[in-house]
Amino acid sequence: MTELNTVEYIAVKSVAEAVTALQSHKGARVIMGGTDLMVGMRDGRIRPSCLVDVSRVRELIGIANHHGSLRIGAATKITDIIEHPVVRQACPALVDAGKLLGGWQIQNMATLAGNVCNASPAAETAGPLLVLDAEVEACGPSGLRSIPVHQFWLGPGKTALEPTEILTAIIIPPGVDGRRSAYQRVHIRHSVDIALVCSAARVVLADGNVQEARIALGAVAPTPIRVREAESYLQGRALSEEVLDKVAELAQAATQPITDVRASAEYRRAMAGVLVRRVLQSAARRA
Ligand SMILES: Cc1cc2nc3c(=O)[nH]c(=O)nc-3n(C[C@H](O)[C@H](O)[C@H](O)COP(=O)(O)OP(=O)(O)OC[C@H]3O[C@@H](n4cnc5c(N)ncnc54)[C@H](O)[C@@H]3O)c2cc1C
Repeated sequence: MTELNTVEYIAVKSVAEAVTALQSHKGARVIMGGTDLMVGMRDGRIRPSCLVDVSRVRELIGIANHHGSLRIGAATKITDIIEHPVVRQACPALVDAGKLLGGWQIQNMATLAGNVCNASPAAETAGPLLVLDAEVEACGPSGLRSIPVHQFWLGPGKTALEPTEILTAIIIPPGVDGRRSAYQRVHIRHSVDIALVCSAARVVLADGNVQEARIALGAVAPTPIRVREAESYLQGRALSEEVLDKVAELAQAATQPITDVRASAEYRRAMAGVLVRRVLQSAARRA
């Protein structure tokens, strides 16, 4: 077990200070709400040399419309995201996911950045961000860069961030119509629990037919995934029972689930098909 009281702790006031601290402390980790990190440290899975606390950096807090894109600062809490009127209207899938993330105590502490950087294959917000074509803004010693979220997760617990980079914001680019988007999951308990399988979808409809579709699945592969074959198949089609059957089949074929103590691979694959149908129908019903 890590001795928590021997870990150096630096609370920074700016992104530049955070990057400098990460450069000068090998093995340092960024801490936001700590709801993943502290659990990992307590059970000895994560042993940082130093914690760089960026949770009070003003430039990282808040939600803003920036030249038509929606910019969610890295230190914005889940509660503030799910209560934000623009997010509720423009990205209902993200609100669905935020409401399921832990309980309200966790939502008051946890951040979107922490959920994304923790890189769990079951991360609640990953599917919504995939279907919203979100981008990760990161800052390191060479300045800012943008990473499409579908390239961000490299495996369980692994991301495209360099050890000296921090995630500064999540951006929903201009032109992404997220009004018809939804997220659902299956879980064992009805209170605080992690998804056994989860799915998000976004559709743009024209005359009752799908003009654009995005479908994502979580907890069925080493990283959250897009179901691109089903997205292409849906283009120009109405969401009939027959079409949804085919989409469910394509979704199941895209999975590589594992069996663990919580569910079997067969169950996860079957539920992937069920969930994809449900989220597509739910997304399409939203105005
Ligand atoms: C009781 C409980 C229930 C939970 N339920 C759920 C659930 O239902 N669904 C779910 O998805 N998760 C759940 N979680 C996990 C956790 O709450 C979320 O993943 C949360 O969003 C993490 O955010 P945080 O701000 O606390 O991150 P932290 O714990 O502070 O950080 C998480 C990881 O991200 C890194 N990190 C954080 N911010 C940055 C940044 N800006 N730049 C670079 N790296 C960064 C940290 O170094 C760390 O590795 C639960 C946790 C608990 C304790």
